[in-house]
Amino acid sequence: MKKIIVAGAGGFIGGHLTGELVKKGHMVRAIDIKPLNEWYQVYPQVENLILDLRLRDNCYRAVNGFNEVFNLAADMGGMGFIENNKAACMISVLINTHLLIASRDCGIERFFYASSACVYNGEKQTDPDNPGLRESDAYPALAEDGYGWEKLFSERMCRHFSEDFGLVTRVARFHNVYGPHGTYDGGREKAPAAICRKVIQAGITGNKEIEIWGDGLQTRSFMYIDDCIKGIQNIMYSSVNEPLNLGSSEMVSINKLVDLVEEIAGYKLNRTYNLNAPKGVRGRNSENTLIRKYLGWEPSIPLSAGLRKTYDWISSEIAGGSGNHGADRYNK
Ligand code: NAD
Repeated sequence: MKKIIVAGAGGFIGGHLTGELVKKGHMVRAIDIKPLNEWYQVYPQVENLILDLRLRDNCYRAVNGFNEVFNLAADMGGMGFIENNKAACMISVLINTHLLIASRDCGIERFFYASSACVYNGEKQTDPDNPGLRESDAYPALAEDGYGWEKLFSERMCRHFSEDFGLVTRVARFHNVYGPHGTYDGGREKAPAAICRKVIQAGITGNKEIEIWGDGLQTRSFMYIDDCIKGIQNIMYSSVNEPLNLGSSEMVSINKLVDLVEEIAGYKLNRTYNLNAPKGVRGRNSENTLIRKYLGWEPSIPLSAGLRKTYDWISSEIAGGSGNHGADRYNK
């Protein structure tokens, strides 16, 4: 049994990771800035702390007496959020910086940082038939403005804390993660959850219309949460010092994503395309040669299977009237 910190445990991925570590019998300290009643998943058997990890003293309080840190805390959201909140996204640099400093000083044995495909050079993502982004495509650097630059900087800080101070750090570049217990409305949601919600609501109201951001031809890959949680642990306990892609290589257009959700719903909607909405890059996919080489594994859960579970969960949330899962509540 290890003593493990999950930073950002009140969020989507942190909540699932906490559950997995509890299942494995570890002692977990779960930390988030949100009040406990706004956490997506709460495990009463772990130590749950409300701390603003942008503050250095809170990071010392967070890591003291523990062995390992998973940093999943960030002020983030889907394209609609990150394109309109660049400064807020960049302030997350304080979280990782102060966590690294406290981890170095308090003898943390292993440190995981959640980076993103948004670190990749935008000029390598102009073709919807993207052959897949290799880890080396982050340089020369031209990351997503704001959010992506913060991720790239924080990745490098992890690397230099390893080289200069001997702190063992591991970095994964997540490509669009989706699944139950994620944000599905309020402005921070990402495409799979947003499309599930729109299709479900169209079914409820009978207004069989859906607005799609962009022309629907832009491409992405989407990783189901179970693959993400397995990959985080595989990377954390590997000997790989460099950032690795953690993403599915099943690339689809946004139109195809809508097709899949309509198939699950059992009805079709009239599509309108909002060309002025935030769209992000034209084409993005995860190239998985390195993770296969180092770990003999890569995410493999089919999009159609993961979407079905996500759709069912969002349906039950909407039916239960819980609503507003993921509204902008905490960074005021
Ligand atoms: P999330 O927004 O659901 O979770 C992040 C959590 O961090 C939230 O609960 C939030 O309250 C918490 N947080 C924010 N500021 C904090 C602070 N100052 N102190 C303490 N906690 C704070 O997001 P997620 O989808 O679970 O993402 C987790 C990590 O993975 C983030 O670093 C994110 O950038 C990265 N990532 C996610 C995706 C994705 O598709 N979900 C893709 C790429 C990278």
